[in-house]
Amino acid sequence: MRYSTFFPKARKQEFKEDLSTNAILLTKGGFIDQLMAGSYTLLPLGFRVVENIKNIIREELNAEGAQELLMPLLHPREIWDQTGRWSDPEVQKIMYQFKDVHRREYGLSFTHEEIVMNLLSKFVKSYKDLPVAVYHFSTKFRNEPRAKSGILRTREFFMKDLYSAHATEADMADYYNKIKDAYIRVFKRIGFPEVKVVEAAGGVFTDKKSHEFQIVSDVGEDEILFCDRKDKCECKFAQNKEIYKGLPDNKCPGCSDGCLIKSARAIEVGNIFPLGTKYSEAQKVFYTDEGGEQKPIWFASYGIGPTRVIGALVEVFHDERGIIWPKSVAPFQVYLISLDGKSINTEAQKVYETLNENNIEVLWDDRDTSAGEKFANADLLGFPYRLVVSEKSGDKIELKKREEGKEELLEASQVISKINEG
Ligand SMILES: [Zn+2]
Repeated sequence: MRYSTFFPKARKQEFKEDLSTNAILLTKGGFIDQLMAGSYTLLPLGFRVVENIKNIIREELNAEGAQELLMPLLHPREIWDQTGRWSDPEVQKIMYQFKDVHRREYGLSFTHEEIVMNLLSKFVKSYKDLPVAVYHFSTKFRNEPRAKSGILRTREFFMKDLYSAHATEADMADYYNKIKDAYIRVFKRIGFPEVKVVEAAGGVFTDKKSHEFQIVSDVGEDEILFCDRKDKCECKFAQNKEIYKGLPDNKCPGCSDGCLIKSARAIEVGNIFPLGTKYSEAQKVFYTDEGGEQKPIWFASYGIGPTRVIGALVEVFHDERGIIWPKSVAPFQVYLISLDGKSINTEAQKVYETLNENNIEVLWDDRDTSAGEKFANADLLGFPYRLVVSEKSGDKIELKKREEGKEELLEASQVISKINEG
């Protein structure tokens, strides 16, 4: 694509200092646009990042036998009454609930447990119909009293939610652990250097403990406590502060290696809940086992917020000049800059076509504007590679990686192999 016709361009205005880094950089770069507090449009650049994140999630979940579908966001009160969650004061704080002109009551979805259970009741009759694992990517609504921190906490956001249904507790636990591992692979592929798997409370979902996937960052709203793993200790102890009960001398409760507990602020990017039979018993969704007996379905749910992941990525990967996207999710791999007028544009056109022929996604800054502005924009937008074609580069191409300082002059074929090798 050409930047001269791209919508929208980066913004030049300065932003209030008290805004979070992700909000400032994503807004300036033209990745998102705020409609009101806690509500953002994903502009074409932001949308491309979300699509890349979705594809990674999709590949890992499909590999575990999960199937993608799409469920409605507008829910009738009756289904939520089956579990009592419609009237739960904690749910009412966050769920948008309202009446239509016929005085029928509806809610906007912040999760889909009741709806999936309703769906299962129509198709699952026997143990032969289990297990089932289904997921969708859809908008979620939460009436956030303190929508802030850019796209980390919003009233309307994008979610991947997966639900799995099983005949036995053991089968549920087995699948739960598989998805826990799949999530670790997802966050690694997205580019995070480390994700902490943290035990936490189940909130409005379950009385059981859940697991959160946390990215350490000073702007995170959660405080997590984890084993400092001295020497060769492989202890995985990590808990959210809301459930942590410390030992004397700050010792780790998870190992006997004399490790201490460290604390850090963190951004929650995913969570998983072993729900058990709470939902199937409340909604009376049973299956017939091998002996002909009626049994409640074992159930678990699993969420990842792709838009929040984008916010976390920007908080972790940026410098004073802009964003530094990991290669796996960058909206484009290359920001191509052409300088010094018409003859150069013919050269740049050739480079642009070569990249496209090699399936390397490129945004060509072909505007009639200063070199300084183009370089600053390349840094702000943060694609992995910047290529420059100019009088100075002659018949070669200047390549610079976003996270590195040095430039090199290369032939077109060398540029292609360099980018493909990563
Ligand atoms: Zn430990």
